[in-house]
Amino acid sequence: MRDDSRSRVFVVGSVNIDVRLGVEAMARPGETVLCSDLGRSVGGKGANQAVAVASLGAPTAFIGAVGDDDAGRDARAHLVRSHVDTGGLQTVGRRTGLAVIQVLPSGENAILVAPGANGAIDRDFLAGQLAGLTSRDLVITQLEIEVERVDEALHAARDHGALTFLNAAPARKLDRALLELVDVLVVNELEGAELSGLPETDAGSEAGLRALRSLGPQAVIQTLGAQGASYLDAAGSFGRVPAISTTVVDTTGAGDAFVGAAAIEYRATADLAAACRFGAETAARCVAQYGPLVAQD
Ligand code: ADP
Repeated sequence: MRDDSRSRVFVVGSVNIDVRLGVEAMARPGETVLCSDLGRSVGGKGANQAVAVASLGAPTAFIGAVGDDDAGRDARAHLVRSHVDTGGLQTVGRRTGLAVIQVLPSGENAILVAPGANGAIDRDFLAGQLAGLTSRDLVITQLEIEVERVDEALHAARDHGALTFLNAAPARKLDRALLELVDVLVVNELEGAELSGLPETDAGSEAGLRALRSLGPQAVIQTLGAQGASYLDAAGSFGRVPAISTTVVDTTGAGDAFVGAAAIEYRATADLAAACRFGAETAARCVAQYGPLVAQD
């Protein structure tokens, strides 16, 4: 148990229904592909990270939005079953978000996302949910919701002295003012390249991480798939952590498992190397199974 019972984790982000299709090759324009596998589950980076954190034993609240539809009810039930507090899950007048994920036999995937309700989290509702934050709390957010809500969540966290993790996914450019509110920025190769403007071949290098940290966050982690992760901590120390070798079944949610685990370990230890090691261990458990990490009852 890595939790300090006085502190809570708030995940502000997306929740989707994930439709997973096992394919021999990705569909190309004009092509019809018969899939070997069909799976439906609850996903979205926000929900996946909340469930990963809760599965590690930390009191976790999810703040997001679903539609008034079966998908939204399934999403809520999944979070409740996973021991995530859904008091911050709003029902809004748009359809619940949907992701279609093609998974290759190698475990690699390609994902299409229709954000739906994730794009309609109410500003005042969010502010109300975060009004009681304390300096012992941790706020984790990503970029599958409106960037204004991300900014407001980070501001609320900073105002209350809570620790902030931003998983800047999917890839996009961000303002310095927003990045300066981030204690730990987590990106993969592609997201890091988009943010820093450096080629993807620089991913994981000390120069690449220094470029990312110069954009405003206190510290940076770059995940590198099977190559593990690199980090640059708040004191400016650079390091690498290997991935844990395992049989790859499906890499969906590996990054989310890494982020959730790294965040709670960092809050507990303030040690970014230890956070990356715990992230890698947790992500390895995730890639060895089909779909994202879920709570074990
Ligand atoms: P994302 O899914 O966000 O692109 P990555 O692919 O970088 O994230 O993976 C996140 C973490 O998951 C990696 O840092 C690593 O620890 C773990 N991971 C990913 N792929 C593998 C793999 N094939 N074997 C073991 N661990 C993996």
